[in-house]
Amino acid sequence: MIVAEEKDELKVKLKEFFGYTSFRGNQESVIRNILSGKNTFVIMPTGAGKSLCYQLPAMIKEGLAIVISPLIALMKNQVDQLNAYGIHARFLNSTLSKAEITRLKKDAINGTVKLLYVAPESLNKEENIAFLQKVKVSFVAIDEAHCISEWGHDFRPEYRKIKTMIAQLGQLPVIALTATATPKVQLDIQKNLQMEEADVFLSSFNRKNLYYEVRPKKETKKQLIRFLKDHKGKSGIIYCLSRKKVEEIAQLLNVNGFKAAPYHAGLDPDVRVKNQDDFLNEEVDVVVATIAFGMGIDKPDVRFVVHYDVPKSLEGYYQETGRAGRDGLEGICLMFYSHNDLNKLEKFNKDKTVQERENARVLLQEMEYYAESPVCRRRQLLHYFGEEYTEQNCGACDNCVNPRERFDGTAAVQTALLAARQTGERFGLNHLVNVIRGIEDEYVKSYGHFDLAIYGKGGDEDGDYWKSVIRQALIYQYLEKDIENIGVLKLTEKGRKFLNKPHPIELARDHDYTTDIEDEEVSTEKPSSSKSYDEKLFEMLKNLRKQVARQKNLPPYVIFQDPSLEEMATTYPTTREDLAAINGVGMGKVNKFGKEFLEVIQKYVDENDIETASDVIVKSSVNKSKIKIFIIQQIDRKVDLEEIAESKSLTFDELLTEIENICYSGTKLNLDYYIDEVLDEHKQGQIFDYFLNSETDSLEEAMNDENNAEFNEEEIRLMRIKFLSEYAN
Ligand code: ADP
Ligand code: MG
Repeated sequence: MIVAEEKDELKVKLKEFFGYTSFRGNQESVIRNILSGKNTFVIMPTGAGKSLCYQLPAMIKEGLAIVISPLIALMKNQVDQLNAYGIHARFLNSTLSKAEITRLKKDAINGTVKLLYVAPESLNKEENIAFLQKVKVSFVAIDEAHCISEWGHDFRPEYRKIKTMIAQLGQLPVIALTATATPKVQLDIQKNLQMEEADVFLSSFNRKNLYYEVRPKKETKKQLIRFLKDHKGKSGIIYCLSRKKVEEIAQLLNVNGFKAAPYHAGLDPDVRVKNQDDFLNEEVDVVVATIAFGMGIDKPDVRFVVHYDVPKSLEGYYQETGRAGRDGLEGICLMFYSHNDLNKLEKFNKDKTVQERENARVLLQEMEYYAESPVCRRRQLLHYFGEEYTEQNCGACDNCVNPRERFDGTAAVQTALLAARQTGERFGLNHLVNVIRGIEDEYVKSYGHFDLAIYGKGGDEDGDYWKSVIRQALIYQYLEKDIENIGVLKLTEKGRKFLNKPHPIELARDHDYTTDIEDEEVSTEKPSSSKSYDEKLFEMLKNLRKQVARQKNLPPYVIFQDPSLEEMATTYPTTREDLAAINGVGMGKVNKFGKEFLEVIQKYVDENDIETASDVIVKSSVNKSKIKIFIIQQIDRKVDLEEIAESKSLTFDELLTEIENICYSGTKLNLDYYIDEVLDEHKQGQIFDYFLNSETDSLEEAMNDENNAEFNEEEIRLMRIKFLSEYAN
């Protein structure tokens, strides 16, 4: 065995095989450890350079190194990259043909292959084990090792069988690597791999250049657009929970002038690859994606990562935010939080086993604590991964930059610690809270905890208050989680000292997101369907509409329809562009009627000191759908309506509905070429007059009016479109 003894010799190899001049972080000690045949456990943040920790030893050691990785999709990519360095790496997974497998086996047995990437499913196959038994294996690397643990966020059942599989290959050194592992998950991994004695290399998880912020999920689209306007032209990722949401937000951003592309597993592979490449090549600035995006993506200058929806776990959150600022420069991590999202996530788990559901719930609860906590975000994240951060103010998270009001929490922490001690340090948060508050539930009863001195000593404070106190006591290390028993809280040494000799402790109140209303359920089609508009302004606009209608001798609805006025009374447009962005308005109407309305709104805004939304108008993408654009173009070219309907497989009725929608959104359409064919001038005039004098544009009323008795519905609809186009748009 050739082991690089000298420090310099290892560096020479590094340069020779990979072209790098120096090691990063603790890569070198990790590599020496595995080279000397010891089991090694590496916890290093994303992007820190874990791959090199097994790739270089693989090149130095005699034989073939097996790399177990869960990401079949990325295996080829990694192997290609190594091949480009002139390194003989191969992969073995279900995508290979019989012939390719035969060739691979031959090469491996001949001893020329240095690294073999395998999926755990493939390693599980007897024929593959039998083949590997014939190969000289140098060591086994287990990448993304957190997949072993069912307490973590990315559990893969087949990972738990890895130890049994590699044991069949003989006594081999193992190096396990992961970017996320809470202390509990770490212990679980080591136990499962039977490598409790392994040397653990834990790098700091602190990403100094990342700024963490949590905001209530309220008017989220508007907040997002405002945020993106402030970071225009920069690269960023926006994570959403569902494919549907991804599509919707990507479209929203495009309509609002951002270069954005969607990415999710439901897209055509070609499109997916193109969108990813466009992002890497900076053809688009923003990728809107599900968490399918990002693994293995190595773009150094991602300037922000936005979580539009709440992620499933802090592990996932940390990995996803970790993709920001890999070059060490600015990286903003913004999460929109609502309790409702947690409920939705919980529902997704309903088909899982009881154990899986419980684990998922624990992860979600940590997410909730993180979002609502007043404590430094950085401190919380690092604490979660078993690292203590003790700076008073990190200067780069919302809770440090805008600290919440503090109060003297000395007595409260005492109460919390006493509750833990008096219950024998065998219970979790909820039970401690019940004991403190004197709530006699079945646990309190069965353990007789109503007899404890601390029982019911919680005063007037509510359950949320006491939960927050206990969580802060945890983060400030007066309490700790029992690693063996999930949920159980124990006193730390620091906690014991504090109880013997209390010193002042400051705490803060949690964020209260409960009063925030979500705008998520409001459809883009009718942005003003909730009655949240400014009623006073709405009345003023309605009066103005009446005046204008009278002057122009038109029915009021021709000027603007009610939903448009409601929206104006919500977003306070004060420029022509903003007004045109209102649903049902468009530039045509702005030119015709806009001036007076803008004046009224401007005056109202000035008098009432209202912050206008002028830079955050969220344009709805409804009217820009491909089919609508197609219809507008065809009508411009005077194509027969029947023909248009046919080419889009629409019924004539459906086509008319589309045209009406276009028209009601403020676009002028000229259907004369068609109408002149089906209705003579006199009849046209008759229907036209009806609408001019009618109080409403209701089709039903038009049909019921005796003056229109001779016309069918189609004719009336066509004339209504003509009328609205000429007068309203
Ligand atoms: P991880 O698996 O920890 O997320 P990777 O192994 O993919 O990270 O490495 C991230 C990036 O760092 C890669 O582009 C890799 O080439 C680079 N890298 C790793 N080690 C070094 C080094 N010693 N010097 C320079 N670049 C390195
Ligand atoms: Mg990696």
